Amino acid sequence: MNTQIKKITPESLQEAKNIIFEGGVVAIPTETVYGLGGNAFDDFAVKRIFEVKGRPNDNPLIAHVHTDYDLSKIIDYDPPYAKKLREAFLPGPLTLVYPSTGKVSPFVSCGLDTLAVRVPSHTGAQAFLREVAIPIVAPSANLSRHVSPTSARHVFDDFNGKIPLILDGGDCTGGIESTVCDCTGDIPVILRPGLVTKEMIEKVVGACGEYVPDLASGEKVKSPGVLYKHYSPRCKTLLFTDGNAAKERAAAERTAGARVAVLCENASVSAFVGTGVTVLDLGKTQTEMAAKLYGLLREAETICDTLIAVEPKEKDGVMTGVLNRLRKACASEDIPHTRK
Ligand code: AMP
Ligand code: MG
Repeated sequence: MNTQIKKITPESLQEAKNIIFEGGVVAIPTETVYGLGGNAFDDFAVKRIFEVKGRPNDNPLIAHVHTDYDLSKIIDYDPPYAKKLREAFLPGPLTLVYPSTGKVSPFVSCGLDTLAVRVPSHTGAQAFLREVAIPIVAPSANLSRHVSPTSARHVFDDFNGKIPLILDGGDCTGGIESTVCDCTGDIPVILRPGLVTKEMIEKVVGACGEYVPDLASGEKVKSPGVLYKHYSPRCKTLLFTDGNAAKERAAAERTAGARVAVLCENASVSAFVGTGVTVLDLGKTQTEMAAKLYGLLREAETICDTLIAVEPKEKDGVMTGVLNRLRKACASEDIPHTRK
């Protein structure tokens, strides 16, 4: 199959729509990361997404809709706080999880009794969603466990020859996936941290919980995706909280003959200059670090054998999401319980 990258025009949108209604998948830009989109009502298309990505079949998908889509077509229970969250943050990088009404393909939610819905703000994503006018499931457009894509080129690198079309909407400005927030209980509960932070949600609705899976209890995990090793570059990765320990390990790796790169915030760059390693600068602000993280992880795998990552000092706000991704990218494996 020939994989084409096309700018978003009326013609490429029409082509994308045709592919979607034939049961195919199309990569689309969003403000967070690129997604691999398919018709949420079409069992075949949804299964194809899992197959193309190599995604574990217990990791559910998010349905994407345009700003004026009538949500009552796919959900019915809608607590007042969910309405407030939609008014405050949508369109934008916040996914809300509602009780499922069974309207979309059963393969979307992988056996959970909920459905995750997102309204992206990216103008290209909106144009595409308006064109098709149906919910589109769109997990991140990377091979499962690989680094999420923030440019059309990243998608091409993972799926050349495997999908027909990548709609190119430029580099993603957000850079990490949406905050996923459960709206099935009395208060919203964050299942996956992201650019819409707990503090931002609390300001709008008062209380907001954070989900910590209780693996020992044997309960069904609310958001299985949070347990998988993910976002990982194809090189050895080592994560440090302490800059000096990172420096020592970088030197040891170099002595052992490895090409070494260090990924750190701008404030730590000077400590590594002149030590013979390539320094990948995450930047200064939390949002800048979110935007640059995946591009740098993908760069790392092309230039080094060992990536030494150093956790930025700030841990709150948007960094909660950035650290969540960085720790998974550098994890040695899945949380053992989830291994199939
Ligand atoms: P991705 O689209 O690759 O960013 O992954 C989607 C994320 O949303 C994963 O972490 C899933 O576990 C989570 N997710 C999707 N649907 C649901 C749902 N119905 N309930 C809880 N989490 C979900
Ligand atoms: Mg993903």
